[in-house]
Order: sequence, then structure tokens, then C-alpha cells
Amino acid sequence: EAEVALVGRSNVGKSTLMREITGHTFDTGGKPGVTREPNHFDWTAEDFVVTDLPGFGFMSGVDEDRREQIKTDIVRYLEEYADNVLVGILVVDGKSVIDIIDRHSGPDEIPYDVEMYHFLRELDIPTVVAVNKMDKVDDRDERLNELCDRLGLLPPWKQWQETIAPITAKKGRIDPLNEAVRDHLHEQGRDD
Ligand code: GDP
Repeated sequence: EAEVALVGRSNVGKSTLMREITGHTFDTGGKPGVTREPNHFDWTAEDFVVTDLPGFGFMSGVDEDRREQIKTDIVRYLEEYADNVLVGILVVDGKSVIDIIDRHSGPDEIPYDVEMYHFLRELDIPTVVAVNKMDKVDDRDERLNELCDRLGLLPPWKQWQETIAPITAKKGRIDPLNEAVRDHLHEQGRDD
């Protein structure tokens, strides 16, 4: 069955977003890194499943080896199922994403989020970046333009509405994401 895959650092609001798009309840208060296995759920009113991949990046109480293992598992999963994945959704925290990317950018360091974005592109998986927690962002356009810049997309972000979807999952404001996903499905002739 066709699927939409969700990836993102832990604590960006992936479980909250999953709950919003599937109508299922997810344990958001659990121990970080516990969701090792991909979870499959139906996207409400759509004919595909949503796969929630484990959160990656820094998690308190999770050691380096385990974090690397989680990342390796995600990469393997995506490589294996790339042909089946209609859209990849990279969830980021709009409030902190630029700081995190810039902190981890260097001559021999690529930030996870940027790496994951390019990895999905390399696998030919149409990708939407769901920029969550926009309720906490004041300089909205500036922030989204900066994100485009970091991902190698020429600002302004408004040119990239199929790729950049500002949302507030917690309040159910996810229309830009729904539209971006729909646009990608439409391009693949799956909007019937
Ligand atoms: P996950 O680790 O990526 O699954 O993240 P969770 O869904 O557990 O959310 C992490 C924290 O971010 C929780 O405290 C959520 O209530 C909060 N959160 C999620 N979405 C939003 C949002 O749109 N706005 C704000 N302000 N907080 C959010």
C-alpha cells in the first residue's frame, strides 16, 4: 500500500502531527527513543498509510550508539521502501530549526535535518518540510526564508509552498501541509 513517511528529530511534534492527520492517539509522554519501529496508520479520508519513523538526533538519556542505530534504521527503511513512499514529510521545529542547523554546520558536519532532506531527494521521494510550532514564531517570513536558504532553495519561501509547509500541529492548523501533500499526489496522478 502507498505510504507517506514522517521523519524528524525528537520533540519537534511528530506524535502531535500524527494524531492530527490520523485521528489516532499517540503516547507523546513516553521515554524518548522508545518508538524504534515504524508505525503505520491510515491518513484520514485518504487512500494511503502514514508511517511514523523514530525520532532522531539528540535525546536525553539515549546514548550516542543508540542514536546512530536509530538513524541507520531510518535510512535503511527509506532505502528499502523508497519506491512505495509517495511523499516524505520532514518535520522540524520552526522555533529552533535555524539555530540547530547553524550550530551543526561546519566544514565536515552536515546537520541532520539538512542531511535528511537531501537524502529523501536523492531517493526521489517528493519531500515536504512541515515547519511546526509556528505559533511560537514571530518573524514568520524571515524564518521560513532562512530555512529555504539552509536547504538550498532560493527564497522567498512562498515560491516553495509544495515544499515548505508552516503548521501548528498542536492547534490543528495543518492546511498548508495537507495542500502540499495533495499537490505531490496530484503530480503523481494519485488524486482520484
Ligand atoms: P515528538 O517527540 O516529535 O513526537 O513530539 P511531541 O508530539 O511529543 O511534541 C513535543 C512537544 O511539543 C509537546 O510538548 C507538544 O505539546 C509540543 N508541540 C507539538 N506541536 C506543537 C505546536 O504546534 N506548537 C507548540 N507550541 N507546541 C507544540
